[in-house]
Amino acid sequence: MFEGKAALVTGSTSGIGLGIARELARLGANIVLNGFGDAREIESLRAGLAESAGVAVAYDDADMSRADAIERMMARAIGEFGAVDILVNNAGVQHVAPVDEFPPAKWDAIVAINLTAAFHTTRLALPGMKRRGRGRIVNIASAHALVASPYKSAYVAAKHGIAGFTRTVALEVAQAGVTVNAVCPGYVLTPLVQKQIPETARARGISEEAVVRDVLLAAQPTRKFVTVEEVAALTAFLCGDAAASITGAVLPIDGGWTAQ
Ligand code: NAD
Repeated sequence: MFEGKAALVTGSTSGIGLGIARELARLGANIVLNGFGDAREIESLRAGLAESAGVAVAYDDADMSRADAIERMMARAIGEFGAVDILVNNAGVQHVAPVDEFPPAKWDAIVAINLTAAFHTTRLALPGMKRRGRGRIVNIASAHALVASPYKSAYVAAKHGIAGFTRTVALEVAQAGVTVNAVCPGYVLTPLVQKQIPETARARGISEEAVVRDVLLAAQPTRKFVTVEEVAALTAFLCGDAAASITGAVLPIDGGWTAQ
C-alpha cells in the first residue's frame, strides 16, 4: 500500500508512535523513527523493524522541543528518502497538576512538544508534498483536543491547539492533494498514561486503583482502554488513497468518551 513512500513518525520509540510506525512499515512504507530511549534498545528496534517489514528504517534523535533539531531531522529525512510523504506528529508529554501549582517549565515543554513541534515539521514537509501533489499529515491529538479534564491545563491547551492547527492547514492545502487530520484517542495504556496514574492519585487524593476505575475508564463508556493497534489502523487508513476526501477532520477514537 505504501511501497516507496517515506513516513516520519515523531515520538515513535514507544507507545502509540511505535505502533503507528510498525503498521506503516507493515504496509510497505520506509520509516523515520524519532524519540528518546536507550540507544541500544532503539537500534535493535530499528533493525528489527527493517528486517521484519523489509523496508528501510532510519532513526533520528531530534528533541521535538527544539526547532533547530527538527530542522536537521527533516532535512536528513528528505535527503535520505527523497521525501516525507507521510508525516505523523505523535510525540507528546503530559504533566498533571493544579494550574496554580503547574511548573512553568512543564507548561513550556508540553506546548513545545505537543503543539509547536507539529508546526515546524509541517512547514518543512509541506513544500515537497505540494510539489508532488500528494501528502498525508496525521496529528495524534487526544480526546483532550475536544473536551477538558482538571489538572491538565497545558496538555488540554496544546491538544485544543493542535485541533485548530489541523483544520487551518487542511484548508490551506485542500487543493494540493495533501490531507491533514487529527486523531483523538481516549485512554491508551502506554507509558504516558502509566506515569500519570500516580500523579493523578496525588492531585485528587485517591488511590491508583481508583484513578484507573473512577477517572480513566470512567470517562470511556466502553470501560476499556483504546489499543495502540486501533489507533495505528485508523492512522494508516487516513494515510491511504481511500481517505483522500477526509481532511480537516478531528476524529475521536475514544470508546464513546466525547459522545457524552
Ligand atoms: P509514550 O510516552 O509511550 O510515547 C511518547 C513518545 O514521544 C516516546 O517515543 C518519547 O520518546 C517521545 N518523546 C517525548 N518527548 C520527546 C521530545 N522532546 N522529542 C522527541 N520525542 C519525544 O506516549 P503515548 O501514550 O504513546 O503518546 C503518544 C501521543 O499520543 C502523544 O501525543 C499523546 O499526547 C497522545 N495520546 C495518548 C493517549 C494515551 O492514553 N496514551 C491518549 C490520547 C493521546
